[in-house]
Amino acid sequence: MSDYAPLLATLIALLVGLAVGKAWERYKLKDGKWIDRRRARQSPHYILGLNFLVSNQIDLAIEELARAASLDADALEVHMILGNLYREKGQVGKAITVHQTLLQRPSLTKIEHAYVLLCIGLDYKRGGFVDRALEAFNEVLRLDPNNSYALVNLQKLHEEQHQWSDAYDTRQRLSKLTHTESKNESILAFLENEIGLEAMRRKDYLEATRRFEGAIDLDARAVPAYLNLGDVRVAQGKDQDAVAIWERMVNVVPDRAYLAFDRLEKIAVTAGSPEGFTNLCRRLIDENPQDWRARLALSRHLAAGGHPQDALELLFAALVQNPHALSIHQAIWRALGQLRYPSSLVDHYSDLTQHAVFYLDPHVCVRCRYRSTELLWQCPHCHDWNTFVEERIAPAQDPTEVEV
Ligand SMILES: [Zn+2]
Repeated sequence: MSDYAPLLATLIALLVGLAVGKAWERYKLKDGKWIDRRRARQSPHYILGLNFLVSNQIDLAIEELARAASLDADALEVHMILGNLYREKGQVGKAITVHQTLLQRPSLTKIEHAYVLLCIGLDYKRGGFVDRALEAFNEVLRLDPNNSYALVNLQKLHEEQHQWSDAYDTRQRLSKLTHTESKNESILAFLENEIGLEAMRRKDYLEATRRFEGAIDLDARAVPAYLNLGDVRVAQGKDQDAVAIWERMVNVVPDRAYLAFDRLEKIAVTAGSPEGFTNLCRRLIDENPQDWRARLALSRHLAAGGHPQDALELLFAALVQNPHALSIHQAIWRALGQLRYPSSLVDHYSDLTQHAVFYLDPHVCVRCRYRSTELLWQCPHCHDWNTFVEERIAPAQDPTEVEV
């Protein structure tokens, strides 16, 4: 039994410690009196404020939380939320004032200090004070090196400033904290690719190659890195290396193959071996009969080579797969023009398009972006009245035209 005595004593000490901690959390000594720290949080204004916040009624939330805050000047989190709401309302100056006032409290713990600084950083970011925001987030990280919110915001700020290396380093710190590995690596690959592009603009092909290859190592589906790495090879006069890189991309990410079509076609034609390109297109169509982009690319190549009839056949098949693609319709009319509009082929086009629904959902609710095929007077999603406008690809010349 005596063996257990030290263990028991430790346990009791732990329990007593917890109870004292809880009490300390709830009460604090102020001007010689014990104050219930939960006063602000237990007031109806606090609960009401949170309810308004949940239903996204920011003005009412501010009103109630301001009352709750006035009941207890010490309730740090209530003041912090209130400041954040001012920021969300666009009242950045007011938000900064609230948060700066909190920062001057002498009794802040290190973590509280870090969180108030984080709020100030977000205020500065919202207000467009980039340097001050950077400074605030870095200060947060000095106090709390694993603060992932500060890291995320720091990364975004660096990205906005095109400081890709800094963004990369920040993301790497973040990736050590979060365990969504594939997402981290995909983001790091995009950042690595941007660093490579900077090197490419300086014509530092060695560094660019290293970066693009690094991006592909991080994420084998990093499409832009393959495209850019191939462009480096072309700039170095190594066309066939470029072809090999882009073909590797086509195999790894076939649904993005079309991004390399123009590049591959150009090199194949220049090298005098266009079949390298046509074979690739045919292989892609065989592997995925729905691949309308490979058909379009091959048809363009055939039409340019003086085979509009073959091109049209491919285009009609592509049209069946995707009747919405304007590029297919344009290519069809060009090929028909090359053939001087034979009536049988024009009729065939007409048949193919007759039942195609070109504008499946052209009406859009301006309030919630809900889409509908028909014009509706009440939105089934946000229930507002008369909010639908017809969607246009280009802005209408006459602004009254879009009014319903
Ligand atoms: Zn709506």
